[in-house]
This record gives sequence, structure tokens and C-alpha cells, in this order.
Amino acid sequence: MAPRRELGPGTRRLGRVRRLVVKVGSGLVTSPGTGGDPARVEALAAEIAEVRGGREVVLVSSGAIATGAARLALGRRPRSIPETQAAAAVGQSALMWLYEMAFKRHDIAVGQVLLTAQDIADRSRYLNARNTLQALLGFQVLPIVNENDTVAVEEIKVGDNDNLSALVASLIDADLLVLLTDVDGLYTADPARTAGARKLDVVEAVTDEIARLGGEATSGISVGGMATKLAAARKAAAAGIPMVIADGRQPGVLARILRSEPVGTYFAPRDARLAARKRWIAFAVRPRGRVVVDAGALRALTRQGRSLLPSGLVAVDGQFAAGEVVAVVGEGSDREIGRGVVNFDAAELRKLRGVKTHEIEERLGYKSFDEVIHRDNLVIL
Ligand code: GLU
Repeated sequence: MAPRRELGPGTRRLGRVRRLVVKVGSGLVTSPGTGGDPARVEALAAEIAEVRGGREVVLVSSGAIATGAARLALGRRPRSIPETQAAAAVGQSALMWLYEMAFKRHDIAVGQVLLTAQDIADRSRYLNARNTLQALLGFQVLPIVNENDTVAVEEIKVGDNDNLSALVASLIDADLLVLLTDVDGLYTADPARTAGARKLDVVEAVTDEIARLGGEATSGISVGGMATKLAAARKAAAAGIPMVIADGRQPGVLARILRSEPVGTYFAPRDARLAARKRWIAFAVRPRGRVVVDAGALRALTRQGRSLLPSGLVAVDGQFAAGEVVAVVGEGSDREIGRGVVNFDAAELRKLRGVKTHEIEERLGYKSFDEVIHRDNLVIL
């Protein structure tokens, strides 16, 4: 493990950034009532063009729904799901047109990539999305990503582009994730209401205390607010990717971030970078069920890096198939300690609660795996 303490708290550690994901919020690229704002999109394109030389950039842009709502003269955020999806359809193409024009001036070709949660949850679709993004980057194209709001209904949505951008950063193994918004980072309290509220320059870990600073997700035209940004920071950190939240209206903000100037708030990555497959297990997938484990198993998993055996299994919640991802929970607590790919389906596991390894065959009537979740398929969060 890297000796983090020696670097001292509060140090930005960016290293060499070759691959960068930049996410812009709706508030940054749209104006109330008129939607996609050409001047702001142009300013953003200039910023990205400036830092792009020798680097690969993926842009995650919100603003489709806001732009569509303006085009449809709704005068408000769309209310029903079909209205939202219609606004997204209209707004996405209008927004892409602005990006196309703006980046053309810098001789940068753009490509639209619309994702749903399923493209990330399903392992083969995940790999496919990754290949597509790699190919675009290989062609020196700037991929512009958004959630496919026109087809993604609530149940299959990532739901906000902060989390989506963290998933994309992990997907393509980025060196840095930058969330551009209209505030200059994370504050100790709401600066608009609290005198003496202080901006945090570096956050070493998104502890529960830090997460509380995020408050509730805001409503209005932007989905996220600080809460989803901090959730994104957790994902990025676990993937080993540093993240910065900064005010996208400040001129030169991206270049300054890349020079490690103290703009915005920097979120340190975890020392140990999870392998790509483990990142997928940890974050890309919504668990299909839960396995509850006893104290002994909990220790073995979290302290000793062991596999989960049937003997430590206390309860099984939900319906799932072998090969799916489930959450692991300690007995008597609701806290998820990890996630893993199970070797058995839910019905089989119910028969295996508390069973010794040598009794598995007898219980099931056939020979199968020794482990409920092998340690190679288990991520402790
Ligand atoms: N995908 C949404 C849009 O383009 C925005 C989601 C978000 O703001 O996080 O309008």
C-alpha cells in the first residue's frame, strides 16, 4: 500500500492524466427557458480542446431534458414519464447539434453514446460498451455520453449523470473524473445560508460524515445536487480514480485542475485499485438478492480475504440464479459489507444454510462448488 500519510493530508495526487472523463450538469450547458446554450457549449468545447492534446477525453453531458422541455415550450420540468422521454428525445439531438458545431471549430469529431443501466449491469453489454468507447477514442473522437432517457424507465435507470460518469470513468479506466457544476466544490455548510462555510480542498475519503454534507438530492432541472456527486466520488475512489468537483463557469478550470491548482474539491482515490472485473461487481450491478452471514464468516471475509462458505450462511433473501451478483450482509445489521457473484441459485442456497462443505453434495443431491462466493468474485466495500 502507498504510504498515504507521508504525503500528508490535503495533497492532490493526480499523476499523469492520459484519460479523462468530464461531466457537465444541465445548469452549465442550458439556460432556463431556452435550453441548450450555444455560448456555454462553445466555452466548454474550448476548455476541452485546450486540455485534449495528448489526452483522451470522454464528455458526459446532461441537459437533454432541459433542452427538450424548452424546445417543447413546456415552461417547466416535464411531469410524466412519457413527457420526460419525449423531451429527452427532442433535447438530445438539439444538444448534440450544438456540440457538433462547437467542437467542429476545434476540428474535433464527436460521437453520441447513449447508455442505460443495463448496458453496464449486463457483463457482455458492459464489455461491448467499453469496446465502443475504446474504438471511438482510437479514432480520436470525443465521445459524448448521456443516459438513454428516451427508453430508460425508472427501474432500469442509473438516474443521474454524476453516478453515470463515475461508472463510465471506471468502465474505460480513466485517470481522472471531473464533475463540472455551478458550485466551486464541497462546502462544510451551505455557503448561501451559513456564514463561515468553508470549501473543502481535499477529501481523503467519503465517510458518512462527509456524505451528510451532501444533504438531499435537489429537485428542479438538475437531478443530482451534491448527494449524487458524493455517491459518484465513492464509486470513483473505489475504482482508484481521483475525482474533482469544480465550478465549470470559471475560465480555464480544466487546465487548472490538471495543473493540480486548488480549484474545486479533490476526492482522493483508494490506495488499492480494484481490478476491472471487481469494479463491475461492486458498482455496475444492482444486486439481485442478499446473503446474510454470521460473525465468524464476516471476519473471515473482511479481515482474512476468504471465500464465503455455506457454513457461515444464515439467511438468503430474494430470487437469483447462479452467476448473479448478490449483496453480503452481516447478521443483525442492514449494512452491506460487500458484493459477490454466487455459485448457487437462491433455492439451493436456502438448503445450504450452515452446512459444512463436505455435506453440500448430500444436501443438493449433486456435486457442485465448495464456496457460496469465491473470493475472486467477492468485493468488500
Ligand atoms: N440525463 C439527463 C438529461 O440529459 C440529466 C441527468 C442529470 O442531470 O443527472 O437531461
